[in-house]
Amino acid sequence: MDRMKSMVVSCWIVLVLLAWGVLGLHSFSDASIPYWATLRNRNRPVAKKKSAILWTHTPECRVSRNTKEAGLYTFARAQQFHRKNLVFDWHVDTLYHMTKSWYDFRKGKPGRDLDVGKMRQSGIGVQVFVMWVPPRMAKHRGGSWRHLRLMHRNFGRLLRSTKGVLEHARTVADIKRIRKQGKIAALLAIEGAHPLEGKLSRVKTIAEWGVVYLGLTWNNSNPFATSAKDEWYRKGYRKRGLTPKGRRLVRLLERYRILVDLSHSGRKTFWDVVRMAKRPFLASHSDSYVLRPHYRNLSDAQLRAIKKHNGVVGANFYTLFLRKGRKHGQATTRDVVRHIAHMVKVAGIDHVSLGSDFDGIRVRPRGLEHIGKLPNLTRELWKHGFRLNALRKILGANSMRVLGAP
Ligand SMILES: [Zn+2]
Repeated sequence: MDRMKSMVVSCWIVLVLLAWGVLGLHSFSDASIPYWATLRNRNRPVAKKKSAILWTHTPECRVSRNTKEAGLYTFARAQQFHRKNLVFDWHVDTLYHMTKSWYDFRKGKPGRDLDVGKMRQSGIGVQVFVMWVPPRMAKHRGGSWRHLRLMHRNFGRLLRSTKGVLEHARTVADIKRIRKQGKIAALLAIEGAHPLEGKLSRVKTIAEWGVVYLGLTWNNSNPFATSAKDEWYRKGYRKRGLTPKGRRLVRLLERYRILVDLSHSGRKTFWDVVRMAKRPFLASHSDSYVLRPHYRNLSDAQLRAIKKHNGVVGANFYTLFLRKGRKHGQATTRDVVRHIAHMVKVAGIDHVSLGSDFDGIRVRPRGLEHIGKLPNLTRELWKHGFRLNALRKILGANSMRVLGAP
């Protein structure tokens, strides 16, 4: 009987020991991994690590892990990336067309690059609408200023007609609030200081409107500064640059925290501003001169100056600035990437952004026919080797930094 008892006790001890080992109740290995698993994966430590990751990650993490693994190769993935992050475009000329002949922005118009549907498709978060006054308006005294005020009223009309989709933003805080509500932030800017008609007092008015940047010139020179086009084509313009009144304008803009845009300005104007600028400035819609020698593009020295002043350049999608030729389809999305990559190489990843120039360009690249095609650019940037953090900077974060600069 005693022998029977001791055999039963021994059996129990063996059973308990087995259960202890198999169920992983001991403390010699990772408590989250059962003993049998460590036995099976003894020679495969990677598998042991992987299973631990799968157990501890939340579903959101798994999604982002998958995004990283799969990349932004498809249009849908790039679109998803745009919606989750922030896409900021410094320059479209839509207001010019809407002022010329009004149309419903919700429905759009054939041949136009922007409307509500296309913007939603692009996943864009911030769009700067530029007011550009045709220089012929200056024929009548006060004509340019009157036209600018008309465009400003039309900006208000555009916002009213797209209530719930677009909302006017003046600051970084506005943008963040509007994005949280799932809406697109619409910003206002001016291309060319000629509508001020030489009057510095008008800066106060445009500041009240919430203008975020003023282009010192368009293709035409004005009482403040010389344009890149005049410097290139007209004799005697190369040495003009910023006038004394132009210097006062730059000081005033800085005081009102309106950014100075040098995209259309001549080289002399550019360097005159570089010498006096205390705040970051931008080139809202220009490409690289080294890749395409056009007077509207920026030399490497200019790109380095933008970097030094903590500013930003917005890559332009106009075929003519990307490569030689003006025919549709002659440039592709890859050409935009080529310019972005070069500008990043010269100015650094923190100083390049987007300035599409949509509705202001007659010839668009293949793959970027309108704003809705913007995810194609992100796909191409990914293919080129730009990764998530770099994309966040180029697509939005760099512009936000410059807009919010103290
Ligand atoms: Zn322009």
